[in-house]
Amino acid sequence: MISKATIDTVFETARVEEVIGDFVQLKRAGSNFKGLSPFSDERSPSFMVSPAKGIWKDFSSGKGGNSVAFLMEHSHFTYPEAIRYLAKKYNIEIEETEQTDAEKANMDARESMYLVSEFAKDYFHKTLLNTEEGKAIGLSYFKERGFTLDAIEKFSLGYSPEAWDALTKEALGKGYKLEFLESTGLTIPREDRPFDRFKGRVMFPIQSMSGRILGFGGRILTNDKKAAKYLNSPESEIYHKSKVLYGIFQAKQSIAKLNNCFLVEGYTDVIQFNQAGIENVVASSGTALTPDQIRLINRLTRNITVLFDGDAAGLRASVRGIDLILEEGMNVKVCTFPDGEDPDSFAKKTPHDDLVAYLENNAKDFIQFKASLLMDEAKNDPIKKADLIRDMVGSISKIPDRIQREVYIQECSRIMDISEQVLISTLAQLIQKDATEVAKKQKQEQKPFEVHRNQNPKNTGYSGGDPEDPRFGPPEDYPGEPGYPSEPTTERVDVLYRLERKIIEILLLYGDKTEEFENVLMKTNDEGEIVNVSEMKSYKVFQRIYLSLQEDEVELANPLFRGIFNDLINYYLQNDRFSLEHYLMRLPAEYAQEVTDILMEDERLVMHNWEGQNIFPKSKQDTIGQNVTETILTLRWYLVGRIIEELKNSISPDKDNMESMMMIKDYNELTRAFSKKLGRVMSRF
Ligand code: ATP
Ligand code: MN
Repeated sequence: MISKATIDTVFETARVEEVIGDFVQLKRAGSNFKGLSPFSDERSPSFMVSPAKGIWKDFSSGKGGNSVAFLMEHSHFTYPEAIRYLAKKYNIEIEETEQTDAEKANMDARESMYLVSEFAKDYFHKTLLNTEEGKAIGLSYFKERGFTLDAIEKFSLGYSPEAWDALTKEALGKGYKLEFLESTGLTIPREDRPFDRFKGRVMFPIQSMSGRILGFGGRILTNDKKAAKYLNSPESEIYHKSKVLYGIFQAKQSIAKLNNCFLVEGYTDVIQFNQAGIENVVASSGTALTPDQIRLINRLTRNITVLFDGDAAGLRASVRGIDLILEEGMNVKVCTFPDGEDPDSFAKKTPHDDLVAYLENNAKDFIQFKASLLMDEAKNDPIKKADLIRDMVGSISKIPDRIQREVYIQECSRIMDISEQVLISTLAQLIQKDATEVAKKQKQEQKPFEVHRNQNPKNTGYSGGDPEDPRFGPPEDYPGEPGYPSEPTTERVDVLYRLERKIIEILLLYGDKTEEFENVLMKTNDEGEIVNVSEMKSYKVFQRIYLSLQEDEVELANPLFRGIFNDLINYYLQNDRFSLEHYLMRLPAEYAQEVTDILMEDERLVMHNWEGQNIFPKSKQDTIGQNVTETILTLRWYLVGRIIEELKNSISPDKDNMESMMMIKDYNELTRAFSKKLGRVMSRF
C-alpha cells in the first residue's frame, strides 16, 4: 500500500495540465486549456482543463475530475496505479505501507496480467544485457542491426533465452501465477510442462500510451523457415492488437509537439527512426491500420504521414488505410522510399538532416500519391484512368469537411485534367449513397417506439437556463402568494434541482469567503412594541448556508446533492482553510463526477462563447452575497413548500390533525415572509 504521505505529495505536485498534456494536445484558452476530447470522436474541442482548479472536464462525454481521475478514465489505471504513475512522472519516492493478504488477493486479474508482463519485460531486458547467452545472441544481433544501447534502453528491448521454460520458471519462482503467465500468452499451457512462447527471440515490448506493458513482439534469430520471423502476444484481456500502436508511449510528446505523426510498418522502423533523431513515429505492427489506432493518433495530432517501402503489397494496404484516416477527419500524407528500401534501411544509412529533407520533399497528399502510384499504368488507358479518378473521388468523399473536399476536388481536377463539374457530381452521388446506407443502418438499429419521460432532471434541466447569465435567476413560477400545485410538476423538480446544485456550487467556490448578511431580529422598541430590526453581520458563506437550512430543519431533496452538501459542510467545519485541490483529492468517487461537473459549468459557458462574439459571463464574485441570500431564500421557500405539501397529505378525517394544521399555518407564514424578502432581493436586479 502506498502511504498517505506519498499520496498527499503526489496530489500537491501533479499539475493537471501537465498530466493531461502527455495524452491530449492542449491549447491555451484564457486561463484554461482546451483540446479534443480523448473520450469521443470529435472534431471541435470540448475538452477543458482548468489549471487553477486542478480539474478537467469533457463536455462531450460528461466525464471530469482531477489528474488521478483522468488517468483512471483514460488509461484505465486503478487508483494506486495512477498514484504510482504520477509519482514516477514527478520523481516522488513512494513510501509503502505493509499490504495485507486480503489486499494482495484482491488484486484483480488484469492487474496481475500487467504485473507479470512488466516482470517479463524486465527479465528479458536483464537477460539481454547481463547474461552470456543474451549478450552473445541477442545483443550482438541488435548491434549488428545498428541498434544503439540508448535505443535498447528507450524501448526496453530484451532477449528470451533458448531454454524451453526460462521465463516461466523464473516467474513462478518469483511468485507469479501460472494462470496469468498463460492468459498473457507468455507461457503456452501444456499439462506436463508449460513452455515459453518467445523462446530464443529478441523481444520488443509493446506499451500503451501511458507506458504499461500490454504485450510483446519477438523476432526469431535463426534461419528456421518453418517458424514465423515475428511472433506477437495473442489477444488478451490487456492486449488488443487493433487498439495499440507500437512506439506511441515514446512518441506521444514529440507527436503533439511537432503536430505530425509518422506511421510505419514495424518495430525496427520505429527504432531506426528514433536513432536517426525522429521521434514522432509509431507502427501498426503487422496489422492493417484500424480506426481505433487512428483515433489514438488523433488525440495527439490531426496530421499523419504514412511511410511505405516500394513494394506493391504495402502500397495497396496503405491505400485502404488512407481512406480510414480521411474518414476520421485527419490530414494524411504519404511518403514512399526508393525501390528496395524500407523506412528502417533508409533511416539507417541516411544522415539526420538528409532524412528530414527527404521526408519533407517526398511527402505527397493522397491525391498526388494516388496519381503518382497509378498514373504510369493509367496514362494511355482511358478505362484505367477513369478508374483512378473514381478511386480518388471515393477517397475525397470520405472527408467529413466540405471545404477540404472542395480543395481536393480542385486538385484532382487539375492533376487528372478533368472538369471540376464532373468530379463534383460524382462526389455528390457517392456522398448520397453513403448517406442512404448510413440512414438504412440507423433505421435498423432504432427501437420501434420509445417514450421518453422527463424523469431525470439532471439531463434536462440545468443547461436549459440562460447560458449568458451565470447568476441564478428567480424560478419561472415564482409566486405572488404561497400555494403549491398539488402534483409536483417537472418544472418544479427542475427548479429545485437547479437550486440545490447552485447551493453546492456556491459552497465549492465561495464557501469560506466572508460576507455581510442581513439578520432580521425581533426586538422591543422604546414603546414596548415588538418590531423587526435588521442588522448586518459577517458570516462565512458556508456557515450562512448551513445555518439557514438548519433554521427550517430542511435537507436537500436530491440524495446526491445531500451527500455532497454534508460532505462539504463537514469539510468546512473540520478544516480552517478550504483548498479545492485538497478537497477534491479526498472526495469519494461517487461525488467527484458531479462536483467537477458543477465546477466546470462556467467553463462550459466560456467554451460556447469565446470564439463567438466575445461574450464572457460576468464574474460571479461581484454579487456573491446577494447571490447566496437569494439562492438560499428561494431554496428554503421551495423546501418549506414541500413540507407543507407533505403535511397537507398527512391530514385525514380519522385523526386529530391539530398539530399538522398548526404547522401548516406556521410554514405558510414562513413562505409568505420568504416571498416578501425575495421580492425585495429580486427588485435589485
Ligand atoms: P529482415 O532483417 O529480414 O529485413 P526485419 O526484422 O527487418 O527482417 P521485415 O520482414 O523487414 O523484418 O519487416 C519490416 C518491419 O515489419 C519490421 O519492423 C518488423 O518489426 C515488422 N513486422 C514484420 N512482420 C511482423 C509481424 N508478424 N508482426 C509485427 N511486426 C512485423
Ligand atoms: Mn527489414
